[in-house]
Parts: sequence; structure tokens; C-alpha cells
Amino acid sequence: MEDVLFEEKIESAEKQPNNNEPITPNPRVKGGYFLVGDTPSSELFISEEFEEDEQMMGQMVKDFCIKEIQEPFFKRGRELLITNKADKAEMLAILKRAGNLGLCGVSIPEEYGGMGLNFKTNTLISYNLSYGFSFATTLGAQTSIGCLPIVYYGNEAQKHKYLPKIATAEYVASYALTEPNAGSDANAGKTKAKLSPDGKNYLINGQKIWITNGGFADVYIVFAKIDNDKKLSAFIVERNYEGFSVGAEEKKLGIKGSSTVQIFFDNCKVPVENLLGEREGGFKMALNILNGGRIKAGSGGVGGSLSALEKAVKYTNSRKQFGKSIAEFGAIQYKIGHIAMQIFANEAACFRIADLIDRKELELKSAGFSENEAKINAIREFAIEAAIIKVKGSDLVWYAADEAIQMHGGMGYSAETGLGMGLRDGRITRIYEGTNEINSMLCVGELLKRALGKTKEIDLVKAGKKIPSFLVSQLNPFRSKSGYAEQERIVNGLRNSFLFISGMAGKKLKKQLVEEQEIILNLATILQEIFICESALLKIKKLETHKGYDPQKLKIEQEMVQLYFYEAVEKARKAALEAIASFETGRTKRNYSRVIRLMLKPYDINPKALRRNVAQYISKTLG
Ligand SMILES: Cc1cc2nc3c(=O)[nH]c(=O)nc-3n(C[C@H](O)[C@H](O)[C@H](O)COP(=O)(O)OP(=O)(O)OC[C@H]3O[C@@H](n4cnc5c(N)ncnc54)[C@H](O)[C@@H]3O)c2cc1C
Repeated sequence: MEDVLFEEKIESAEKQPNNNEPITPNPRVKGGYFLVGDTPSSELFISEEFEEDEQMMGQMVKDFCIKEIQEPFFKRGRELLITNKADKAEMLAILKRAGNLGLCGVSIPEEYGGMGLNFKTNTLISYNLSYGFSFATTLGAQTSIGCLPIVYYGNEAQKHKYLPKIATAEYVASYALTEPNAGSDANAGKTKAKLSPDGKNYLINGQKIWITNGGFADVYIVFAKIDNDKKLSAFIVERNYEGFSVGAEEKKLGIKGSSTVQIFFDNCKVPVENLLGEREGGFKMALNILNGGRIKAGSGGVGGSLSALEKAVKYTNSRKQFGKSIAEFGAIQYKIGHIAMQIFANEAACFRIADLIDRKELELKSAGFSENEAKINAIREFAIEAAIIKVKGSDLVWYAADEAIQMHGGMGYSAETGLGMGLRDGRITRIYEGTNEINSMLCVGELLKRALGKTKEIDLVKAGKKIPSFLVSQLNPFRSKSGYAEQERIVNGLRNSFLFISGMAGKKLKKQLVEEQEIILNLATILQEIFICESALLKIKKLETHKGYDPQKLKIEQEMVQLYFYEAVEKARKAALEAIASFETGRTKRNYSRVIRLMLKPYDINPKALRRNVAQYISKTLG
């Protein structure tokens, strides 16, 4: 599948503009646009378009993970345990070796000793980093949440002091937001900072929990409230500061090689110059950093699913039962086909959005924003999509890892295959960077905020006006089914269902709607499917226009897209009908439900035949 995804590099239809050229903003390079308007497939970036050096970076990360994590695991017959002193030293040594190769500086600008790679190459790195199991969390914290607050918000002195050392792993970095009573509700933290009588230091008191890399970090980005401030501020805290201490390593379900500790502040003396960004700017900073981290967590989930699928394919090709390879059984082909099509669709969404962030950044720079403001605002722009990718990618890796175990039968339950480790390690992605429930509610909440808030930047009313004509078109028995017409109809059906239900629920429940989390989660399910379906459709359309693209591979990928759409419609219809049943009764409920059934008609394909085709192809090419 690695090959299926990356072997054929195709020419980008839309070249990135030169930094110095003025850029006319593209109205489609906009968060939430996927709900209200179409994007031409020529504008979509797909992973096959990565430049050679970018692909090499991705490959280098994968090779590093295989050499440093997977091969020693199979030799040793067990995973690294951070609670074991020697293993902890080994994990730190691996991180240092990654630093020697420059892998800790991928998101740090070159002037501060890093590689300054763009967002999409960083996303490709996260995708491949999943081959490193718990090391993905260690390196991920170093290159993302641990250092980006300084990259984006640090002043020159802070950047020069810390970033070159983080880039080489001379300093290990971590990010300390969560507290015993402040998890999802991150702004509720009780850690306090106050100025010392001589005005030279902030004295921090409090406690943080679940701090990745905390057991061996040198630098901690710590969020605390100054005096009686309502909002958090951020500080750079060094390990050797007076009043700072680190707890024991947590014993966890998974990512057992990753360091996770509590940290404590007892009148911890932090020099005033280590306030990061503006006073009370910490909460915004924390959220902006998490937006970027969510795309990386989601793409890591998709990469991890590919790794699970590769293992399953190899095993099912070689394992024989009832006189034939188990890969020949329909029950196994169902699983392989299902995972493969999910990977195809979700991968399209990950790299689509990573590229849009890079393009938005260029647009903003061209409009006069500073480098950092452009980076922060570009990521912020796609907060809706970031939340979707995080939820979908992390749910997928859990599903794929579980089914990979199932396809191995008893061998899947053996620790030596590493499948159990994969399942446990992948599980964390549904919890950190904001739980999947929080992210699901966030994508809908953010969308409604942008549509109904002061800015009204997403015009849902205008989009909703197209619903009647769409419904009329659905009654036409002669509507076109050629080419991608059916899939375009499904994307519009999904969009209109979201607009219809959010509109009707809003009318009925008014402000109470935000309290009805079950309905918001139903809406989130539909929104997620719109974004992933549209991304998969755009990708297949783009691949089709590529001269010389393997026609057999294209046909299979078209079938993957058909399968994805088939399942998405079923899922979305269930969510839509459930939402309606949650706020309407009687005749109105029946009428609304009829509208939904018209908008989300079943996609008339033979899923069994398509899944078998996909699985047979994947078993041949990936095995
Ligand atoms: C291994 C690991 C590493 C971590 N690394 C870091 C790190 O480096 N730095 C850091 O700062 N933090 C880190 N975290 C913390 C992580 O981000 C939090 O655990 C996560 O945000 C959830 O917070 P919580 O654990 O307090 O759960 P809670 O917020 O208590 O949530 C518990 C459950 O309630 C649900 N819930 C909560 N609020 C709502 C709501 N309003 N509506 C509906 N449902 C809700 C959640 O979805 C969840 O299902 C890490 C955690 C783990 C386990």
C-alpha cells in the first residue's frame, strides 16, 4: 500500500507560487468551504505530488522507525518500558539519534538550526512516524507541541536560546497544559504564577499531569494563570529551575516506551523573560498548537492503519486453512477491502488540508502578515478540518489494528507479533490532542460560530437555499448516473442533510441546541463524511487526469471511493434520522425523515464484489 500511495509521482496541476509573487486569495482556500462550495479537482494536492526530497524525508523517518524501534522490538521480543531505567535511557538515546539526523528540527526554521519544512511535509513525517509506535509520541512532542509554541510565539532571544538545542535534541521539549482538574476544560487550571517581590521572576505553584517527555525533558512549555487573570499565560520552564520537580513515570495501557509524568511547581522561580507570548495569551496559544497537532495525530492514525494493513496482508497471504490461503476467504477480504478504502479516503483528506494550510500561509504572507502570524492564522483557519481529521484518523487506527489482530487469529494475541502493542499504542490518539468527543463537538461548534457569529464568514443560509432544487432533482428518475455524477450527488446530499438538520434543529431548539450534545454529535458524523467523501472524490478525479497512471490501480481506487461513499451514506442517514427523532415528533418528524431519505438514498453498488476486488488487488500488491 505504501507503493499504492506513493509510487507514482504526478505533476502538480497548480504550482505553488513563488514567495515573492503577490498572491490573489483563493476563496476556496478557506476553512469550512467544503460544506458550502465545490472545489475543482485540479486544486487538490495529493500525496503522489510530493517532491522527491519531501518523499525522501518521509521515507527516512519510516526507515529510522523500522531500524530503531521495530527491528530491536522483534529481536528483543518485547516493547520498551519507560518505567525500566535502561529502557528509558534507550528511548532518550533514540531521540538523540533522531536529533543527529535533523529529525527533531523538522518544524523549526533554518535560521534557528532546523529544517523549516512546510506543513505538508511535516504531515507526511507524522504519517510515517506511526511506524515507530510509542516513539511517534516522543518525537511528535519534541517537534510539535514541545517546540512550536516557541517557534510561533517566542521572541528572538527565546528562539535563539532554545530552538537550536531542541532541533538537535540537546534539549528535550515538552508541553504542560493538563492538570488534575483541567483536562478537556483546559482553561480551568489552578496552576498560578505571581511576580516575585524583586520583579525578576515569576513564582509558579501548582501541578501538571500526563506530561509527555516530562521524565527526561529539559524544557517545559507551562501554562498557568498570573495572579487573578481569567486566562492562561505560557512560560518556558527549564528542568533545573529552583522549585521544579518531576514525578514517577506513569504505568500506562500503551505507548509504554513514551515518557509520561506529573510535574510539580513549588514557588518555582521562572525568569520574567521566560514569559512566552502575551500575558493571558496562553489559552489561545494552547488551542492553536493543538489545531496543528490534531492533523498530525490524525495522519499518524492513517499511517498506523497502513502499517496494520501491511502486516495483515502478509499474514493472510501466507496462512493456510481449509487447504487455501486465508486471504482468499470473503470474510478476510471484507476486512482488507474495508481498511484499504478507509485509508485511501482519509489519506486524501489529510494531505488536502496540510496543503491548504501551506497555501493559506503563503496568501497571508503575501497580504503582509509576518511569518509567524501567517503560520498561526493558516492553521487556525482549518480548525474544523483539523478536528475531523483527528477523529477519523484515530478511530481508523483503532479499527485497523483490531481487525489486523483478528486476521491473525491466535497469533494476533501473541505479544511477539507487535500487533497488541500497535492496538494499545494507537488507542491514545482517540484521547490526547482533545478527546474525540470534544473534537467532534468542536468541528460543528466552530462551523456554526463562523456561520452565525459576528463574521458570518460561512454563508449557510445561501447554501441552504439550494435544498429545494436538490430535492426536485432527486425525484427525476432520469438523472445522470454516468462518470462521477452519483458521487457528486451524494456529496450534495450529505451537505444538504447537514444544512437541513442544523437549520431545523436550530429553529426548534434555538440556543438550547448547543446543549444537546447527542444532536451535535449526529451533525458531526455527517460533517465528517462530507469532508472525507469530497476529499476522496477530488483525489480520484485528479488521478484520472494523470497521463500514464496505472489503469488497474485507478480502477481499484475508484472502487475504493465507491465503497467509501456507500458506507458514508448509510452512516450519515442513520445519524440524520436519529437527530430528527431527537427533536421532532409526529407528522413533522415523518416529513423531515422523508426529506432525509430522499437526500441520502442508498448508493446502489455491489459492496461485496467491490470489496473483493479491492482486497485481491491489495493482497497482491501489498503482500
Ligand atoms: C499518554 C498521555 C499523554 C498525554 N500527554 C500530554 C501532554 O504532553 N501535555 C498535556 O498537557 N496533556 C497531555 N495529556 C492529557 C490529555 O490531553 C488529556 O488526557 C485529554 O485532553 C483529556 O482530558 P482528561 O484526561 O482530563 O479527561 P476528561 O476531560 O475528564 O474527559 C473524560 C471523558 O469525558 C468527556 N468529556 C469531557 N468534557 C466533556 C464535555 N464538555 N462534553 C462531553 N464530554 C466531555 C471526554 O470526552 C472523555 O470521554 C496526555 C494524556 C495521556 C493519557
